[in-house]
Amino acid sequence: MVAATPTPRTAPDAVPTRPARESAAPATGELPADAVADVIVVGGGGGGLPAALYSRWLGNEVLLLEKAPELGGTAKKAAFWYWVPNNVPMRALGLVDEEPDFLRYVARLARPTSYDPASPTLGLSQWEYDMCRAIYESASPAAELLAEKGALEYRHCPDVVDYWSELPEDKAPTGRVLVPRGARDTMSDGGAVGVASMAAAAERDGVDIRVSHRVQRLVLADGAVVGVEATTADGRTRRFGARKAVVFATGGFTHDLDLRRNFLHTPVYGGCAALTNEGDFLAIAGPVGAQLRNMNYAWMCPVPLERAVSRDPALSGMFSVAGDSTIFVDKTGRRVVNEKLQYNELAQKFFSYDGANGEYPYLVLVQIWDQRSQDHSASDEYGRQIVPPGTDDSHVIRGDTLEALADAVADRLSRYAQLTGGLTLDPGFVPTLRQSIARFNGFAERGVDEDFHRGEKPVQLLFNGPVKDEPGRANPTMWPMSSSGPYYASLITGGTLDTKGGPRTNTDAQVLDDTGTPITGLYGVGNCVASPSAQAYWAGGATLGPIIAFAYRAAQAADREPVRESHQLTPSAS
Ligand SMILES: Cc1cc2nc3c(=O)[nH]c(=O)nc-3n(C[C@H](O)[C@H](O)[C@H](O)COP(=O)(O)OP(=O)(O)OC[C@H]3O[C@@H](n4cnc5c(N)ncnc54)[C@H](O)[C@@H]3O)c2cc1C
Repeated sequence: MVAATPTPRTAPDAVPTRPARESAAPATGELPADAVADVIVVGGGGGGLPAALYSRWLGNEVLLLEKAPELGGTAKKAAFWYWVPNNVPMRALGLVDEEPDFLRYVARLARPTSYDPASPTLGLSQWEYDMCRAIYESASPAAELLAEKGALEYRHCPDVVDYWSELPEDKAPTGRVLVPRGARDTMSDGGAVGVASMAAAAERDGVDIRVSHRVQRLVLADGAVVGVEATTADGRTRRFGARKAVVFATGGFTHDLDLRRNFLHTPVYGGCAALTNEGDFLAIAGPVGAQLRNMNYAWMCPVPLERAVSRDPALSGMFSVAGDSTIFVDKTGRRVVNEKLQYNELAQKFFSYDGANGEYPYLVLVQIWDQRSQDHSASDEYGRQIVPPGTDDSHVIRGDTLEALADAVADRLSRYAQLTGGLTLDPGFVPTLRQSIARFNGFAERGVDEDFHRGEKPVQLLFNGPVKDEPGRANPTMWPMSSSGPYYASLITGGTLDTKGGPRTNTDAQVLDDTGTPITGLYGVGNCVASPSAQAYWAGGATLGPIIAFAYRAAQAADREPVRESHQLTPSAS
């Protein structure tokens, strides 16, 4: 196996575990490597763990370098649904999912304005089209191999719908979602289960794993990437050689404010990605001329404002806005959105810009609920705001009357005035809120939301969360809000799960330079590289399914690389 002794998988508590960023200028001079492997994988999350496993199973010596003191990245926080078109259990059930139909669905949503069913690429760029084909081709074999090897056994979710299952382009509206077999039914621990299972397989099968190693730069020889340099928590620089390839899977740039401000089209306060996802690959791949794509989009979700601002490492997206007697209102007290929209689409509401007034009027919305939803919809899963007694409820604002609730909300908003441009409630908030509740209650009684069509699409029922059983009601997503308190509220904004732009790769996950030529020896998978999904969030699991597909393809292509012998790769004697 790989030379030199690995550091333990979990660093001792006393040691600082977050190496600082250094210059990313590539290293070229001679410096013996601490270790040499065939394939180096950088990042031990949703893309890195499968990439390391697939490479190892092809017979390669594999070294995995992870910046955090433990493996998992954002994937560890995920529900870990993975969206796998034409998967084996679908086929066994007779659910037909043919490639042309799959491509029409993904193209329609990725580029709604250029979608053209008559175009050879359906209105996608050739690159996007080829990448989507690669997802269709490889996601299922990739998932099967992980399962066969006991690294990630799955459970099929035959009834889970795609997020746009009602579109005529979706010919396989259910059945594409897999989850780790051992995950709870609610799947909220899917990421922990999936990461633990893949990490155990990596150890079992001899992947050399080193945590608390922040890769800072590439090592180049004769124009090829032949290794990396990483810093450890004690500030030491270590060089690692790769005979065949380096595969980056370092996640997006959610936690780099400057990158967020300069590339995202939305003024997010933060997101739920692992705190170590700071866009390192952008700095590292820039000096070798990597071409960037899709930098403006992110996987998005509503998030609680206060936890996003405090960079709470446990921050989770609100995948499911639970409760039937609950609404979102703006600073005027007006209800402004369908609260049950799928999360990526609901998040867009926060970023509507009001040109006349030069402001984002919905950047912070107030979720309001009554005792009924508190009693019947509380849950501590999926970033829900209505939480049960005994759990952390510091985000919950209370009032016995709507007037008292409004005062408490205004008080809470004042704490964040410096971040929100002084956002406060309008003087007419309470009367407008009463009108909003009266109007909503009428819709709830009739089961029809004339303003925003809440509960009309299958995906909105999927994410309704627990509500009080009311036999025979027409619309389970709505119930009239009580005319008396107590009332509850929390402050919500839009955030990222992680970003999805970065260096462009080809269908083998090779990073391309500005002429479209692969940079020899350099690969990328996951949220550190450009996703062909553009603006779309096709379905639950639509990040991890494609990521696993590209990890599989990266490993196969890296395995075919010629072995590069270089004096820069010689292991040091010590
Ligand atoms: C709450 C939540 C729930 C989610 N649920 C789902 C779901 O059910 N289905 C789904 O498809 N997606 C889900 N996602 C999204 C999914 O988790 C991510 O898209 C996925 O984990 C991305 O994988 P990745 O490898 O690109 O990044 P990550 O999983 O974040 O892994 C990146 C790793 O790289 C490491 N790293 C960063 N820089 C360096 C460096 N310089 N050197 C070494 N290592 C480095 C990081 O520490 C991290 O461990 C969810 C996300 C969240 C936050």
